[in-house]
Amino acid sequence: MDFQSLKNMDVTGKTVLLRADLNVPAKDGVITDTTRIDRLKPTIDFLTKNGAKTLVLSHFGRPKGVTPEFSLEFMLPTLEKSWGTKVGFAKDCIGAPAEQAAAALQNGQVTLLENVRFHPEEEKNDPAFTKQLAALGEIYCNDAFSAAHRAHASTEGLAHHLPACAGMLMEAELNALNAALENPARPVLALVGGAKVSTKLSVLHNLVKKVDYLLLGGGMANTFMYALGMEVGKSLCEKDMADEAKAIMATAKAANCEIILPIDRVTITEFRENAPFEIYAAADMPAEREAVDAGPATVEKIREVLAECKTVLWNGPLGVFEVKPFDNGTNGAAQAVAEFTKAGKIVSVAGGGDTVSALEQAGCIEDFTYVSSAGGAFLEWMEGKPLPGVEALSSQKKAA
Ligand code: AMP
Repeated sequence: MDFQSLKNMDVTGKTVLLRADLNVPAKDGVITDTTRIDRLKPTIDFLTKNGAKTLVLSHFGRPKGVTPEFSLEFMLPTLEKSWGTKVGFAKDCIGAPAEQAAAALQNGQVTLLENVRFHPEEEKNDPAFTKQLAALGEIYCNDAFSAAHRAHASTEGLAHHLPACAGMLMEAELNALNAALENPARPVLALVGGAKVSTKLSVLHNLVKKVDYLLLGGGMANTFMYALGMEVGKSLCEKDMADEAKAIMATAKAANCEIILPIDRVTITEFRENAPFEIYAAADMPAEREAVDAGPATVEKIREVLAECKTVLWNGPLGVFEVKPFDNGTNGAAQAVAEFTKAGKIVSVAGGGDTVSALEQAGCIEDFTYVSSAGGAFLEWMEGKPLPGVEALSSQKKAA
């Protein structure tokens, strides 16, 4: 991955189109998690301190045309608080409102443009729309790794119209992902949990070719156990995926990747918070019970493998972590990864959907080397797919 970094750009007095990802969780007009906004601060600081005129572009939700409930305007106080700077607003991302906002910007100032998805041309990567956006600025800075799996006008198209660079957050994400999978210190352990094999088939196929150990947890481990002829009882299991699981195990064997399945399971008969549970060795799983978490012997096994490894990549909880105490397996494994990371023994990278909330719940998020704020883009990267937003940045660097 070769891309121009914002740090090396001369932005003083220039209008910079900054693609951010402000698609944050919100309820009744209140942002419930500001992580994505807070993580943009280093880029905003660089731009304001160096006298850039910054126009922020983002999508929010999936509006069909102009839809007031998807306006970005309600975010302004949160942006100003997080970024420590005044943020202006333009009621459209193209046309007169955007042009007037761009013309009025002074060095070091920041203005947010309205939701790019109010124009259907954004998702179509429409060339005329992209040109209208490009005409507003002199530099394109993409700091939205979490939207980089989309080839849209503001995430991909713009890179072909203006000198393009990666913002600080994009750069940090790419460096962390590179250290975890493209160019890792070995051995590498991938911990993959979550509900279903079917949603992570491509991830698993790609990972077994790249990592030394793949530890499977969560519901998806059941499908592998079933494929191996083991009892899975009433646990979540995609029996129609057994052949896929066998194919993944065959690829792993050929690639010298060891697949590790849970050694013991926390099982229940009635699904609810604080339900009584019993722990069984994986080989002794009773037919009438349901496995909802990894047991202590599995967590111990993870510790043993960690002691051998230099890099860990994590996606997906090892159990139904939303319902206590079935977060114990995920918490125990997260604490082990955190300990090894703090001791400087491993590089740990985690991301994708529920993983972030699971690690947050385990109280370990600060101790991992890097936790990605991206969901879909992180998973597509784990699948080994090129991300259009990232590809566009590197093709620009090569052309320069
Ligand atoms: P994913 O989005 O595929 O990473 O899946 C996350 C979901 O997997 C979480 O909501 C967990 O509750 C669920 N999950 C993890 N382990 C199990 C399990 N053993 N049985 C059922 N669901 C599980």
